[in-house]
Amino acid sequence: MNMRMAAALCGAALLFATASHSAPKSLVKIQKISKIQAAKIASLGYDVVSIKDGYAEAVLDKAEATALSGKGYSLKTLIADLDKYVEQMKGTQNKTDAYYNYAKVETVLGDWAKKYSEICRLESIGKSCENKDIWALKISDNPQKNEQEPAVLLMGAHHSREWPSIEVPMAVAEKLLTNYSENPEIRRLVDTREIWIVPVVNPDGVIYSMEKSKFWRKNRRKNSDGTFGVDLNRNYGYQWGDVGSSNSGYSDTYHGPHAFSEPESIAIKKLAEREKFQASISYHTYSELILYPFGYAHNVNNPDSKIFVKLAEEMSKMNGYRPQNSAQLYPAMGDLDDYLYGSEKVLSFTFELCKSFIPPANQIPSFTAPNVEAALHLIDKSGTYAMAIPGNNPGLANNLDFDDALTAVSDINAIFGNERNIVMRNEVLKQLDVISKRLAQLTVEDLKHQSTEKLDRLRSEQTASLALSYVRTRLLFDEGHNPGSYGVELINSVKNK
Ligand SMILES: [Zn+2]
Repeated sequence: MNMRMAAALCGAALLFATASHSAPKSLVKIQKISKIQAAKIASLGYDVVSIKDGYAEAVLDKAEATALSGKGYSLKTLIADLDKYVEQMKGTQNKTDAYYNYAKVETVLGDWAKKYSEICRLESIGKSCENKDIWALKISDNPQKNEQEPAVLLMGAHHSREWPSIEVPMAVAEKLLTNYSENPEIRRLVDTREIWIVPVVNPDGVIYSMEKSKFWRKNRRKNSDGTFGVDLNRNYGYQWGDVGSSNSGYSDTYHGPHAFSEPESIAIKKLAEREKFQASISYHTYSELILYPFGYAHNVNNPDSKIFVKLAEEMSKMNGYRPQNSAQLYPAMGDLDDYLYGSEKVLSFTFELCKSFIPPANQIPSFTAPNVEAALHLIDKSGTYAMAIPGNNPGLANNLDFDDALTAVSDINAIFGNERNIVMRNEVLKQLDVISKRLAQLTVEDLKHQSTEKLDRLRSEQTASLALSYVRTRLLFDEGHNPGSYGVELINSVKNK
C-alpha cells in the first residue's frame, strides 16, 4: 500500500469513527420476535440488553437500526437519545441519593481501609488503559495473611454505563465492615471467609460515562482502527471470540484483538489465579436476572449445574430475580463467568440488576438491600455447597471450621443425595469423605479437652454418620494404645453405638 492510499484510508476510518461516536444511541424495542430470533440478533453482535416473551430491547445507533429494519424487523424507539437519558439520571441525584463515581469509590475504599484496618486491606490489582488503579478491597480477619478460607469475589462495572453495578458491591462491603463488631452472623462470615470486592473493574469507562455524559459500555482502549473501546465482558479467554461478540472496534460488543488483550480483564485473571475463589458475582444492569454458566453456546454440559441452580434459586428468593442459564438469554463468547467457571472452577454468577440501566438515584437503597442479602448468602454457601467440588483449591475442605464442615455435609447431601451419575457421585463421595474426616478430627480434639459439645452435635445430625464412625474408630484406636485417654463412660457409649 502506498503512502497516499494509507493516508486516505486512515482518514476515512477516522471520519467514520468520529461520525459514529457522535451519533446518539437509542434504546429500541424489537417487536414481535421469538426468543430464538432475539438470541440470533444478539449472536450477530448487536447490543441486545433484554429478551422478553415476544420482544427484545437493544441499544442501537441509527445505522444498526436501519440495518435491522431492512431485514424486516419491526422497531419501536423507547429512549431516542440515551446520552440525554444518562444526563437526566444524573439530575436525579442530590445530597442524600447519589451514585458512586470512581473518585468517590477510591476515597471511600481508602477511608474504610484505614478505619477498619483489622478486617480489610486495599490493593490495586492493576492499572486501566488510562493508568487508573483497579481497586480491590479484601475483607477478612487477618486481612494481610492469605489464609485457607473459602474466598468470594464481587465485581461491579465491567460495563461503564451500568452504574447500579457499583452500588451493590460497595453496599456489601459497607454492611460487612460496619456490622462486624455488633452482628455475630456478619462476624462469622468475615472471620471464616476471604471476601474480595472490586467495585469498578473498568475505571476509564465509568469516568467517561459519568463525566462526558456518554452512554458508554466498553473500556477506553484506543483501537488500531481509530475507534475506542473493548467490551471487557467479551475479552476473557475461555471460548473467546465469534458468537455474541463483534470483531469491529466500532461495535459495543467488540471482543478485542485477542483474548485478554485488556489490562482490566488481565487484572481480574491474575487475582482469580492467585486467590482461587469458590464463588463470584459480577454485577450488571438490567433485567432482574441471575445468570450462571455456560454462556458461550446453548446446551453446553455444566457438570455442576445442580449447585448453580440451587444457589441461584436460593438467592432468587432474596431479590426476586429470575434465575436462568446464561446462554438461554443469548449465547455470548468471552464473558467473565465462563472464564471463572471454565478455567478456575469458580461458582460464578452474573446479576442483571434493576429494570433499567440507571434507575433514579432515590431507588438505590431499594435495589441494594435485597442484593446485599443475596451476596451474603453466596458468601456463606461458598464454604458449604462449593465444597462438593474440589475446584482449584482441593486443600480447603481439610481446613473448614466445625460449623462449616457440619453444614457442608448436610448441604451436599441435600443436593446430591439422589445423584445417579456415577462419576459425579464418586466425586462427591470423595469430598464428603474428606469433610467427614475433618469433622472427626475436630471432634476428637474437643473430646481431648473434656468437651462432648461437638460429639453431641454430630450425633444429632443425620448426615454426619460417616464422621461419627471416624470418631469411633479413632477413639477405640487411642483407647487401645493409651487406655484411659477419654474416660470409661464415653468409650462405653461409643462401643454400644
Ligand atoms: Zn453489562
